Amino acid sequence: MLDHTDKEERMGALRAELAAPKRCAIITHYNPDGDAMGSSLGFMHLLRRAGHSVSLVVPNAPPAFLAWMPGAAEAIPFDRARDRAMEAITGSELLFCLDFNRLDRISGAEDAARAHPFKVLIDHHRDPDHFAQITFSDPDSCATAQMIADIVRDLGWSELVDEPAATCLYTGIMTDSGSFRFSSTTPHTMRTAAWLMERGARFTQAHESIMDDNRPERMRLLGFMLNERLEILPEFGTAIIRLSLADLKRFSYQPGDTEGFVNYGLALRGIRMAAYFIERPDMVKLSLRSKGGLPVDELVQQHFSGGGHRNAAGGQSKDSLDATINRFKELLPAFVASHPS
Ligand code: 5GP
Ligand code: MN
Repeated sequence: MLDHTDKEERMGALRAELAAPKRCAIITHYNPDGDAMGSSLGFMHLLRRAGHSVSLVVPNAPPAFLAWMPGAAEAIPFDRARDRAMEAITGSELLFCLDFNRLDRISGAEDAARAHPFKVLIDHHRDPDHFAQITFSDPDSCATAQMIADIVRDLGWSELVDEPAATCLYTGIMTDSGSFRFSSTTPHTMRTAAWLMERGARFTQAHESIMDDNRPERMRLLGFMLNERLEILPEFGTAIIRLSLADLKRFSYQPGDTEGFVNYGLALRGIRMAAYFIERPDMVKLSLRSKGGLPVDELVQQHFSGGGHRNAAGGQSKDSLDATINRFKELLPAFVASHPS
């Protein structure tokens, strides 16, 4: 297990693994987002250009707004193509685990991944579990895609970065940094984005495909949400958004439609935490976002079976939508008071 060793040692181990052509598989987290897909697809393209064979497994299919990404159609969804996905995992010599820190984040693929003899974890979530033979963990990195760019440079593969790879990595960085505005964005992030631009990243396509390609139903759901389902609690600097199954049905919900809705809560003056609750058939999913030093990952870890980052975290609840929100409201006063702004 190489995880507490120094970076040079871990890079040396990875370099040695990749010295000859290998059968590789990549897996990323359930409900893959822009960084999950961006880091995985970018690395897939680069491993191939370096002479390796690569399959990409996703626990479930990415949302439609990421389907334009180069190579996205190749991703094997574990939930729908189980045999092919299992074959890709068990038939690989190296399994790259990207953008998640615990094996329960890959849902049905968990056991197969756990049993795999050589895993390389590359991730930016706090406190990763020790399940990989080589672990690259950098919670200060705004995106796993940024870590991939760093590793690719360290491997001496800069010249291999072509337009598809650059576009995918750029998209991962762009989405996880909130279009270069979250506090996780650093000069190094901007330099990496520039480096990817120099290598052909189609940045306008990335921004337009993700931001400016909405179905009318999604925009109308957004309008409804802002008008009818947004509750502001000024005394706690908190905004709460709720969407029920009936709300979603009314606006012909498709997966991905509510991506980014939580951020509208944070766009309000005086609000430093946004909490978004969406009803699913079997649970309530929640997403929390915060500004400054309010550690929302601690709240979901302790009370809502989840995790994430200090300023962006998610979890779930088996209670009803109302009961979940009430439980959240009960926790709110003490949580906010213990982390004054
Ligand atoms: P989102 O709110 O967009 O679903 O997720 C925000 C962040 O929290 C992401 O970094 C994601 O990896 C993490 N996250 C979301 N849901 C869960 C969950 O159920 N469990 C854990 N451990 N992390 C989650
Ligand atoms: Mn990420």
